[in-house]
Amino acid sequence: MMTEGQKKPFNVREIRDEFPALRQQIYGKNLIYFDNGATSQKPQVVLDAINRYYSKDNANIHRGVHHLSQKATTEYEESRKLIQQYINARKLDEVIFTKGTTDGINLVASSFGELLSTGDEIIISAMEHHSNIVPWQMLCERKNLKLRVIPINKKGEIIMEEYEKLLSSKTKLVAVTHISNTLGTVNPIKEMAQKAHAVGSRILVDGAQSIQHLPIDVLELECDFFVFSGHKVFGPTGIGVLYGKEDLLDRMPPYQGGGDMIAKVTFEKTTYNDLPFKFEAGTPHIAGGICLGEAVRYLSSIDMQAAMKHEKDLADYAQHLLDTFEGMQIIGEAKQKTSVVSFVMEGIHPFDIGTLLDKQGIAVRTGHHCTQPLMDFFNIPGTVRASFAFYNTRQEVEYFIEAFEKSINMLK
Ligand SMILES: *Cc1c(COP(=O)(O)O)cnc(C)c1O
Repeated sequence: MMTEGQKKPFNVREIRDEFPALRQQIYGKNLIYFDNGATSQKPQVVLDAINRYYSKDNANIHRGVHHLSQKATTEYEESRKLIQQYINARKLDEVIFTKGTTDGINLVASSFGELLSTGDEIIISAMEHHSNIVPWQMLCERKNLKLRVIPINKKGEIIMEEYEKLLSSKTKLVAVTHISNTLGTVNPIKEMAQKAHAVGSRILVDGAQSIQHLPIDVLELECDFFVFSGHKVFGPTGIGVLYGKEDLLDRMPPYQGGGDMIAKVTFEKTTYNDLPFKFEAGTPHIAGGICLGEAVRYLSSIDMQAAMKHEKDLADYAQHLLDTFEGMQIIGEAKQKTSVVSFVMEGIHPFDIGTLLDKQGIAVRTGHHCTQPLMDFFNIPGTVRASFAFYNTRQEVEYFIEAFEKSINMLK
């Protein structure tokens, strides 16, 4: 990770200036973007990198002897290096480019899944995103495994005693989110990893919501796999990362076959390329990989401790103001929580609130947030979710509350 000395002092105004998408009006109102849990806006350096790549450097990688191909290859591989350093992976070949979090989880389910057999168990939690549920269900069906679910309490926290009860020598993988996209709960990954390892299990961490909010150190977390999406961390869509421990990745069979993932192909027998290429079949999202590196470089220039504090202040402030409304129910009140506020209002459908907020230029998410089992647990159809990034401001929160009050007065 970058040293503190290289970071600029945290200044929201300066940061906002770097995000052109934030400087626009929606229905004649200044945009307030509180849907960062769904995707993040992009800083100018990332937009410039996309433009630069396609206007000048565009070429296929790992193949050509010509100048552009080599340049694109170098930039793509430099980006891998930046990501390796950012998440503190031990080796470069432990960083696999994917299409995103969903793709990374599916890769592990398919490939690591091949090493499992009848009766083995996989543990997930009750707060998982559909993309950390469905691939495991599919695998369990295919290989005759058992899927177990760690229950949560009403605050939206994992019940650790129940987790411990589920762990056994049959457990082969624990797949759990670092931060819940719906509740904002931060799960105690390191502790969960140690408990998983104690029974000989591996652990996969869904980092889709943590990579942009917390400093990530995969060694410190003691995880075996860590997955995230580029688009939630100020980079492009269609690119993401799977981190996996080298010895584990080495033992796993390829996920997809094609170009780049092979060493030698004959009709009789094909041998596979080394890591990380073994898991990267076909022409990848080259621009995406390069620009994700740019996003990580950008993120490295931000004082993450100050950014975290700012985001937490925004969420606490919003929650405090929302709490004063009659009929308000905050969903997710974990002790360890990040910058997400999910809520329901008695007698008002979340969709109606979202629609009226939109007319006032405010982007929030409404619905089940790809966590239907979690909605069932709370016995609600969905929530309104405001999710903050470090470029949001207290003023925006205040405007949001005013707009919210107007909206519910219209709906009552
Ligand atoms: C967004 C999200 C995903 C899925 O990410 P994609 O980019 O859609 O693949 C998975 N888990 C969590 C917690 C998320 O927030």
